Amino acid sequence: MTRSLTLIGSGMAGFGLARALRRLQPERPITLITADSGDDYSKPLLSTGFAKGLAPEALAADSALDAAERLNLVMRPRTRVDALDPVARELHIGAERLPFDDLVLATGAAPQPPFAIDATLAGRVFTINDLDDYRAFHAALTALGRPARVAVIGAGLVGCEYANDLVAGGHAVAMIAPERAPLARLLPEPLGRVLGRVLGAALAGAGVELHLGRGVGELGLDGGDLSVALDDGHVLDADLVLVATGLVPRTELAAAAGLAVSEAGIQVDRCLRTAVEGIHALGDVACVDGVNAMYVQPLQAGARALAATLAGTPTAVRYGPWPVLVKTPCCPVVALPPRVTPARWRIEGEGDDLAALAEDDRGRLLGFALTGRCVRRKVELARAAPPLLI
Ligand code: FAD
Repeated sequence: MTRSLTLIGSGMAGFGLARALRRLQPERPITLITADSGDDYSKPLLSTGFAKGLAPEALAADSALDAAERLNLVMRPRTRVDALDPVARELHIGAERLPFDDLVLATGAAPQPPFAIDATLAGRVFTINDLDDYRAFHAALTALGRPARVAVIGAGLVGCEYANDLVAGGHAVAMIAPERAPLARLLPEPLGRVLGRVLGAALAGAGVELHLGRGVGELGLDGGDLSVALDDGHVLDADLVLVATGLVPRTELAAAAGLAVSEAGIQVDRCLRTAVEGIHALGDVACVDGVNAMYVQPLQAGARALAATLAGTPTAVRYGPWPVLVKTPCCPVVALPPRVTPARWRIEGEGDDLAALAEDDRGRLLGFALTGRCVRRKVELARAAPPLLI
């Protein structure tokens, strides 16, 4: 008899796997359980919606109901799995015990604000990591009935993209971060001083008020306004705060079940297998042979490989040399961070159009970062760079 598949998570990993498996096994029983609405949407579009004034429905390719029908699966939206028992092979959902055959954990990564958010600030302080979050922030913007003053905390990929998108949508945006330049993870020193500064200047030119090298001391309410106290004594007034200070893999279910996890995610092999037979992990929650890239291309490659494995052909995943595009139209950035410390960074170009090439001591390309018009070199350079996971 065909083993059934239970999938936890309806992000791009969960849906990607369901689609890939359906191509191989049209009739295999699949149950998709998800804490959110279960709508099928592309997460990268979230940080491009405010400039175009897109309503949340415009970002969903399919409602949960339509997706379930199209993929011929049982969908359980707004259902949180509380625990996983790998010995009894059941999931705990409240008092319910749900048996499983094959199980895939695609529980993604959760925002991690660096401070506790006081309950009195609910409805004013947000993170936007899924379509439900976008709905809530969009509703708060709409309720104001005028352009909002938004304080974005964090200057990584997500913070920069939302800052650019919101300012392009006509809102007044301030961006606060302890780093001296944006994109510190993608553009480590010495790139921050050169390429990061180019992006910072472009964001400022687009109208974003930058408070870099500053931490947030306190968030409070001052009459109807939010007050954001910075550690240099500066206080900003805002209507809304958007916290974009990074994501951590949601490993709690796996950790409590005794599966191997680390800060980088649930440990799986190249076939996305945990040490327990029939339990796999995929997407932002999975650390594959020591690598958790937290981008779309790796999870798509993982979904294809895992579908083949589940359909009976054990298939190891491979990751190519995939550069990350930062969607900041005021100054596009592409980065492929080197996996080992390079012998040198060679910086070419001028003005906003820069290419930084990471090389080993024999001049071989290990990674790169590009800004402005140099992003056109992305394909040519990616061909010469080493893959993320061979
Ligand atoms: P998620 O989308 O986080 O899905 C996790 C799912 O698990 C959710 O459905 C959740 O409800 C469910 N879940 C969690 N715990 C439970 C539980 N206990 N019970 C039931 N359900 C549970 N990557 C790129 O490559 N290019 C980009 O341009 C890009 N832009 C981005 C822009 C933004 C604003 C963000 C936030 C990310 C961006 N990324 C980008 C990253 C990319 O979107 C993610 O890597 C990818 O979407 C992760 O998908 P996922 O399915 O692993 O996780």
